[in-house]
Amino acid sequence: MTAISLTRVRRTYPGRVALEDVSLTAASGQVLALLGASGSGKSTILRLIAGLEPLDAGEIRIADDIASAPGRTLAPEARRIGMVFQDYALFPHLTAAQNVAFGLEGQTAQDKARTALVWLDRVGLAHRAGAFPHELSGGEQQRVALARAMAPKPRAILLDEPFSGLDPSLRADLRAVTLAALGETKTTAIFVTHDADEALMVADRLAILKAGRVLQEAAPREAYDQPACAGAAAALGPVNTYRGRIENGALATPFGPVPARHLGEGAEGLAVVRAEALTLTPGTAARVLDVRPQGAHDRVRVEAGGVVWAVLAPARAPLGERVDVQIEASGAFAFASAAG
Ligand code: ADP
Ligand code: MG
Repeated sequence: MTAISLTRVRRTYPGRVALEDVSLTAASGQVLALLGASGSGKSTILRLIAGLEPLDAGEIRIADDIASAPGRTLAPEARRIGMVFQDYALFPHLTAAQNVAFGLEGQTAQDKARTALVWLDRVGLAHRAGAFPHELSGGEQQRVALARAMAPKPRAILLDEPFSGLDPSLRADLRAVTLAALGETKTTAIFVTHDADEALMVADRLAILKAGRVLQEAAPREAYDQPACAGAAAALGPVNTYRGRIENGALATPFGPVPARHLGEGAEGLAVVRAEALTLTPGTAARVLDVRPQGAHDRVRVEAGGVVWAVLAPARAPLGERVDVQIEASGAFAFASAAG
């Protein structure tokens, strides 16, 4: 069983800080999802864990061993960590089975072939064992890449936006196959994505990154229900914001009050309200600007006091031109104004 922990990790490139004070833990046998926009430092974290780059400060432990510290970088092969990337290049001149068998060591050729087949079967590709990469679809190639990474029984696996190149239905299939393989083998995994829904789906634990820093590390439900800051709230779904002063324990937005007693009377605060935490009923308080269908929801833009907010309302709700707006406390937060 292998836990991976980063403690106060810093990584700089010439003229640029890629990671600052990053502390994270992937618990043994669990999936830690890293969620962040492009450039937030997700891939850098994986490269440091894989031992492909040194760090400037802090340390990385893999199963209690210090794998990285300033001046010390354990070689990648000694870490026994598997990797799957979005554009994972399979060896073009090897079959699917040969690709999976490639990284196996200390086994007879026959045992390697057998292990490769077991893994191809696990990812639903046993019938394509003899196919070359160019004969496989993108989704099939990623299945082979997953099997190849998992077959040597790595201590942990790092997945860097592994499904980003695939269309949504394939993504869902591959996500299920991947989670099943991780679960059956109880493999510790770090799963990088810039897709909030995907992060929430795969994560036992979720870390939200922004500009090289961890905004929040929490269980997915906790991150959603108790965001640490405005940026963490926004990372998990559409939000509306409003800046104002706390009066009578609340921040008065044009759409209604947001409880803010913890910030202190008279302080300036930032209200953050999830788009689905707003309920619209026919009324007078706000003007409906437009309604766009979005699957099970309609995305509605409403205006009050010159402020426009987005609302995820049940589809086809009859609204009319003016509405009253109710803010549900479970999706409404107030942060000190200085906080991100
Ligand atoms: P992400 O995977 O979240 O998109 P990265 O970890 O790739 O982000 O990059 C984090 C930051 O570090 C970015 O600002 C990126 O430009 C920078 N960076 C990454 N790799 C290098 C490098 N080899 N040289 C210089 N800057 C880099
Ligand atoms: Mg990346």
